[in-house]
Amino acid sequence: MEVGVLAIQGDFAEHIAVLGKLGVKAREVRLPEHLDSLDGLIIPGGESTTLSRLMTIYNLREPVAQMAAQGRAVWGTCAGMIMLAQEITENDPIPLGVMDIGVQRNAFGRQVDSFEQTLDVSALGPDPFHAIFIRAPVIIRVGEEVDVLSTLDADRPVAVQQGNLMATSFHPELTDDHRFHSYFLELAGGNGRPPRPKRNAGGNSAS
Ligand code: GLN
Repeated sequence: MEVGVLAIQGDFAEHIAVLGKLGVKAREVRLPEHLDSLDGLIIPGGESTTLSRLMTIYNLREPVAQMAAQGRAVWGTCAGMIMLAQEITENDPIPLGVMDIGVQRNAFGRQVDSFEQTLDVSALGPDPFHAIFIRAPVIIRVGEEVDVLSTLDADRPVAVQQGNLMATSFHPELTDDHRFHSYFLELAGGNGRPPRPKRNAGGNSAS
């Protein structure tokens, strides 16, 4: 199994470091051919408008969208989640449109732009997950095929999965809790695909 991290902008090094701690040497993806034969790809956080422009310049939009459509695992964190969305409330960037979610950027306002919160994520087990939010987006629409892995304040989805695709508003790569990365590696492993999580995991609805 081989996974890659999109390494053109944002905190890709932190994802690569976590994967390394889990015993996986990740490939840095900067060009379309770097996606060849990868089982999974992480799109890191950063600045989605810049990320989007660079993906266009390096001809990465179409191949990454294809990878998602082919059933290979793709996980977007924060700006990466914005890129995976079907639609966003802003005009910029133009997302890849591969995941059936609608997203609002900088949803907590620029004044309160970073915070930490403990989340219930039943797909990861009973222990809560300490999540770091940085100028974070939220998911404002969740499609039929999308499972909500966790919500903030009972009603705002912040971690979702749609089959081989996963998106988180926050930054698991900035904590010592590597359960989201392990979960992603299971998705990328194919035969280890986790069972479809229970609808509205965490006891919250997400429409
Ligand atoms: N606010 C950024 C954006 O809209 C995302 C921030 C992040 O990735 N931490 O692109």
